[in-house]
Amino acid sequence: MTDLTAPVSAPARKRRSNLQLLMANRLAAAGLFIFGFIVILALLAPILPIPNPDITDQPNRLLPPLSEGHLLGTDHLGRDILSRLIWGTQVSLLVGVSATALAAFFGSLIGLVAGYVRGATDSILMRFVDMLMAFPYILLAIAIVAALGPGLLNALYAIALVNIPFFARNIRGVTVSIRNREFVDAARLSGKSHAAVLFTEVLPNVLPVIVITMSTTVGWMILETAGLSFLGLGAQPPTSDLGSMLGQARAQLFTAPHASIIPGVMIFLLVMSINLLGDGVRDVLDPRLRSGTLGRPMPVTKIKRETKPASTIEDAPALFVENLSTGFDTGGSITPAVNEISFRLDKGECLGLIGESGSGKSVTALSLMGLVASPPGIITNGGVYIQGQDVLSLREQDLIALRGARVAYVFQDPLTTLHPLFSVADQIAEAVLAHNPIGKRAARQRAVELMETVGIRDASGRASAYPHELSGGQRQRIGIAMALANDPDIIIADEPTTALDVTVQARILELLQKLRRERGLALLLITHDFGVVAQVCDRVAVMKNGEIVEQGETQTILRAPQHDYTKRLIACVPELGEGHSFLDRVRPLFSEAKA
Ligand code: ADP
Ligand code: MG
Repeated sequence: MTDLTAPVSAPARKRRSNLQLLMANRLAAAGLFIFGFIVILALLAPILPIPNPDITDQPNRLLPPLSEGHLLGTDHLGRDILSRLIWGTQVSLLVGVSATALAAFFGSLIGLVAGYVRGATDSILMRFVDMLMAFPYILLAIAIVAALGPGLLNALYAIALVNIPFFARNIRGVTVSIRNREFVDAARLSGKSHAAVLFTEVLPNVLPVIVITMSTTVGWMILETAGLSFLGLGAQPPTSDLGSMLGQARAQLFTAPHASIIPGVMIFLLVMSINLLGDGVRDVLDPRLRSGTLGRPMPVTKIKRETKPASTIEDAPALFVENLSTGFDTGGSITPAVNEISFRLDKGECLGLIGESGSGKSVTALSLMGLVASPPGIITNGGVYIQGQDVLSLREQDLIALRGARVAYVFQDPLTTLHPLFSVADQIAEAVLAHNPIGKRAARQRAVELMETVGIRDASGRASAYPHELSGGQRQRIGIAMALANDPDIIIADEPTTALDVTVQARILELLQKLRRERGLALLLITHDFGVVAQVCDRVAVMKNGEIVEQGETQTILRAPQHDYTKRLIACVPELGEGHSFLDRVRPLFSEAKA
C-alpha cells in the first residue's frame, strides 16, 4: 500500500518494467519459457552430442523411442529422430522468423506509404493488396511455389508474400489516423521533408503495432511453412524441417506413430508458445491494456478504505466530504491523485473548486459518486456524505440510484459525453426516464421544457438536432439540461464553460446562478479560472497536487490570499484596461516562486 500521507509531488511511483509485466501474465510467461527452451535447443544443435541427422541406417529403421543410442527412436531410413527434430526445428524457426521479417518489412512499408500519401498511390497499393487477399492464401502460396519451383527458399518467399496484405492493411489504418494528428502537422510546418516526417514522426508511433502484429503472426507463418513442406513443396531432402518430417512419416502413421507424433508435438509446442508469448507482448505494449482502461470499468469505483468512517453523521450539509483520497493503480503500486481532501457544500450554496490542470479536480468530482473508472481508480480513504449519509458505504444499486437523481453532473467535454447518434431531446428524455418512468411522450415533452429552461432558442425546433449540429455553448446547455432532468439537490459542474467564449460563458454562469436561486440547488463548480470563481462562488477551495491548500469565503480569499499558489492564481486574472502594468504586477510573483 502506498503511503498516502506522503506529498503527491514526490509519489512512490514505481512502474513495473515490461519484463515484469510480461512475467505477471502466467500464460505468457509459460510461453516464453517453452519458446526460449526450444530456441536454445535449436541454436545449440551444432554442439549437442547428437548424431548426424542425415546418416541413414537401414537395419535400425523405425526403432521405437528410448531405444539404445536413439532417445526418440529412428525414422523409416534409420535416421535419429531426436537429431532430426532439433535440426528441423532450427530450419522451421529460421524460415518462419525470416518470412515474418520480410512480410513485416514490405507490408509495413506499403501500409506506411499508402496511409501517409493517400490519393492515387493509396488506391493502387491497396488494390494490389486486395488482389493478394482475394485468393485463399494457402492456395496462393502453393501456386507461387509451383511457379518458382519447390524448395525452402521459395516457400519462404511465398509465405512472406501472402502475409504482406495482413501487415499492409493493419499499418495503413494506424498511419491514416496518425497522419492527421497535430504533431505531424507541426513537424511538416517545421520544414521536415515527407520522408523525415514519415520515418521520425509516424514510424515510431506505428512501431508497437508492427511488433504486435509480428509477434502474433510468427506462429502462423511457421505453421504455413510446415504445411508447404508437408506437401513436399518446402524443404527438399536431405534438409528437413518439421513439416517435411511429418510428411515423410505419414506413410508409417500406423506402424510407427512416434515418427509423426514427435514432430507434430514439436510444431504444436512451438506455435502454441509463440502465440501465448505474442498475446502477452501485445498486452504489455498497449498502454491502454496495461493500465486496464480497455477492460470494462466496474459500475462503481473500487473502494478500499483503510479505516471506515461513520456511515451517517448528524447536522450535515447538502454535501460533506471528509479526508477523501483517490488513487490510480499503476501496476502494483497506487499513484495518489487526490489526497485527504475535506470540504462542505450547503444547500443553495456555490463552492468553487479551483486549481491548475492535473491538480485532481475532475478526479475529486468523479470520486464523489464513485464514477472514477476502476480499474485503475481506487478510493483509498475518506467519506462522502450526502445529507448525512455516506454514499461510499451504500450498496451498489443505491449509489447508482443517487446518480443523476439527487446528484447530477455536468461533464467537462459535452461533445464526448453526448451520444453522437441520438438527437439531443432523446438523450435528455433518457436522463428523465432513468429515474422517472413517465412514458416516452411525456419525457420528450419534459426534455423540450428543459431545453427552454437552459435558454436554447426555438427548443421544440432544435429538439431533434444531433449533438454535432449544435454549437459548443448549446451543447454545454444540453449537458446542463440533462443534469437538471430530475431536479437534483446537488450539481457538480466540471469546467462547464472552459471551451466557451466569454460572452457565452457569462450566460451559462448566469443560468446556473438563476437555477441556484430558484431551486435552491447546491453547486460545486470546478474551474481553473479565478475570474469565474469571483463572479459566482460564495466560497472557494484551492487545489494543488491533489490537496486543498486553502479554502474560505471567496471575498476573504480574494482580499487576503494566504497561500503562495493562491496569490499567483489571483494575479493571473487581468483587469480590463490594465495594459502593461499587468505584467509588471505578475512578474515578481513568479520570479519569487522560482527562486
Ligand atoms: P484536473 O484537475 O485537470 O481535472 P484530473 O483530476 O483529471 O485533473 O487529474 C488528476 C491527476 O490524476 C492527474 O495527475 C492525472 O494524470 C491523474 N489521472 C487522471 N485519470 C487517470 C487515469 N485514468 N489513470 C491514471 N492517472 C489518472
Ligand atoms: Mg479536469
